[in-house]
Amino acid sequence: MSRNRIQLQKGYSLLQFEQDFPDEEACRVRLEQDKWPQGFHCRACAGNAAWRFPRGPLGLPHWQCSGCGAMESLIAGTLFEHTRLPLRTWFLAITLLSQAKTQISALELHRQLGVNDKTALLLKHKIMAAATDAEAGRVLSCRIELDDAYLGGVRHGGLSGRGAAGKIPILVAVETDAEQHPLHAIFCPVKAFTRDALKAWGKAHLSGKPLVLTDGLDCFKGLNNCQHQPHNMSIEGKAVADTAFKWVNTILGNLKTSIRGVLHAFDHFHYSGRYLGFIQYLFNHRFDLVACCTGMMRLAAESPPRTATMLRQQLA
Ligand SMILES: [Zn+2]
Repeated sequence: MSRNRIQLQKGYSLLQFEQDFPDEEACRVRLEQDKWPQGFHCRACAGNAAWRFPRGPLGLPHWQCSGCGAMESLIAGTLFEHTRLPLRTWFLAITLLSQAKTQISALELHRQLGVNDKTALLLKHKIMAAATDAEAGRVLSCRIELDDAYLGGVRHGGLSGRGAAGKIPILVAVETDAEQHPLHAIFCPVKAFTRDALKAWGKAHLSGKPLVLTDGLDCFKGLNNCQHQPHNMSIEGKAVADTAFKWVNTILGNLKTSIRGVLHAFDHFHYSGRYLGFIQYLFNHRFDLVACCTGMMRLAAESPPRTATMLRQQLA
């Protein structure tokens, strides 16, 4: 799909959201389908027969297993476990986060959803964590443009570029097809640009001995499961940079623009992996924006519950 066709495709509109999820019941039906696509499945005894009944002031659906008597609510074992918010608020948050051209801040989410700012931030982090987990196993295998870069750091004075204090080292890898159109990407923080770090990264994210183009920084010599093609930009010049690294440069620029608006609002040392993982999910699902949204709803149904404490401890 051409870049224009990707950018101009029909997304999942708010009007469509209103039609698909006019009330809480519609969201419950979708969550039940996503949680148990084959029907009820007891986590205790693996049985499939159950008695369904509403419970609590909101009439949240619950099931009691006919085999062992275990009870389970609709939201148990999902990203929504223990939430006091309507599912419709969550589904709207997922819609807004998945369809935005640039990152939506928690403050914007708080205004759009009518929840307080702390709730909006927690909700956003839960959704980002589920998307980041889904992208953790991403593997690239074709032609890959790989670059080292930094996020954040000293804004006034100090060094810039490689070695600057307070910056987070990240790897940006863009896989292209035979016509050199971008397919998938990985945005990944690393402790430092060392050969060991790149060796571990390559082991986790490369398969099939792909062609990997880099700028020849020493750490890239750690890559040992690919065809490494280093380029010395100071010798080869801009023309080569524009062809060999066209997409990684473009996408890195977009990534920095995308994250700039939210960078000041989060502790980027601790949470850069989660923000990058979420942007990576959006990038890798950009070919079908409707599926990007519905896929994220399904992820929420499949994702384990996470408390605020867990999210603070899990830095990814
Ligand atoms: Zn059971």
